[in-house]
Amino acid sequence: MKKIVLASQSPRRAEILKKAGYYFVSFPVFISEIPNENLSLDEQIIDIAKRKALACLDQCPDKNPGNIILASDTMVCLENSAIGKPESEQDAFNTLKKLSGKMHEVKTAIILLDQSTKDITFHIETSQVFFKNLDDQDIWDYIKTGEPMDKAGSYAIQGLGGKFVEKFVGDYNNVVGLPLSALEKTFSAKNWQFEKSALSQIKAKLNSDQHLLAVSKLQPLEKIRELVSQGQKAFGENYIQEALEKVEALKDLNLEWHLIGPIQKNKVKYLKNNFAYLHAIDSLELAELVSKKASEIGYVQKVFIQVNLSNEATKAGFDESSVLAAWDKLTQLTHVKIVGLMTMPPLQNEALDNQVHFKKLKTLANRLQVKELSMGTSHDYEVALQEGATWIRIGTVLFGERQKVK
Ligand SMILES: *Cc1c(COP(=O)(O)O)cnc(C)c1O
Repeated sequence: MKKIVLASQSPRRAEILKKAGYYFVSFPVFISEIPNENLSLDEQIIDIAKRKALACLDQCPDKNPGNIILASDTMVCLENSAIGKPESEQDAFNTLKKLSGKMHEVKTAIILLDQSTKDITFHIETSQVFFKNLDDQDIWDYIKTGEPMDKAGSYAIQGLGGKFVEKFVGDYNNVVGLPLSALEKTFSAKNWQFEKSALSQIKAKLNSDQHLLAVSKLQPLEKIRELVSQGQKAFGENYIQEALEKVEALKDLNLEWHLIGPIQKNKVKYLKNNFAYLHAIDSLELAELVSKKASEIGYVQKVFIQVNLSNEATKAGFDESSVLAAWDKLTQLTHVKIVGLMTMPPLQNEALDNQVHFKKLKTLANRLQVKELSMGTSHDYEVALQEGATWIRIGTVLFGERQKVK
């Protein structure tokens, strides 16, 4: 396994790599970034990126032979001349005024330097960005936010500057600072394997209708924050009390919370509008109560109906015949919207034993004409995905073992 050494101090490049699931070390180097004017624009950014990579090779104390040093340099070009970072607010204004209503190019050179062989690979990625016509007041309002001041081209597409962009052609990540797809193509052409996060490995298995719910019950806040920094937004909790504490503690992060555990009727009043989805509606009475409480506050609660397909007396959920019998009443509730079905096969089952349960849930959902299927946990999610799960609920594989129940 190789490891990336990122020779950059840019938080944006680090974020792109992190969200793509790479573990890497950052080793920012400081070199003169004054371009060599005798070179073409493409050669100038390659030259700068290469000097960063070589400085990193020289200075980085981590000499692991598997290291791949990644250095890059980005340039914004308008009509074949380079636009750097602004030197003053007036300078930022002049730049944005020039970009207004026009297309410009964002070029990034990447250099990959193999620490053991010293072999160097480079690539230049060019994207086109089309700006709207900007009026002076909008430009000044933007400059006053401070965002443009350390950005080549005086804007950040991933920030407030995104509102100036009419459209772009090419890799979005390239405009932010790192051409991820070109980078990954190079990795596979070189046959380099990198260790990647569990989150990115699972996400790579999802199609566009399939979502990952990170089950964070009995896991500490720091681990949730870590997953959020890798790009995860949807989290599932089992116990209302614990869930509400986490919703409150992490409200700055704008997360989407799902309640996946059983709900006691005397706890329904605490739900309020805190959960995007409830996954474990296991009786008509519970559904009625949720609808009643939601109507008092004035929202519609999205839910999954939990179905027990294993004929296990101990498991919660409707059995197949009772869900059919209750369906009309369930769908007539005014403040509950049923989006799909959920199942939780016996935990001791082998993953493949659960395939038949997943197939049954899908057949039942088709019959009832609901789309979402909440099924699959750490040990059987691959089977669930194959059987058409739209929400997999994964705890242990993402977070590691849970703390013991209090
Ligand atoms: C705990 C739990 C999960 C996650 O289980 P893991 O094995 O940790 O992935 C999924 N769904 C429900 C209903 C749970 O209670």
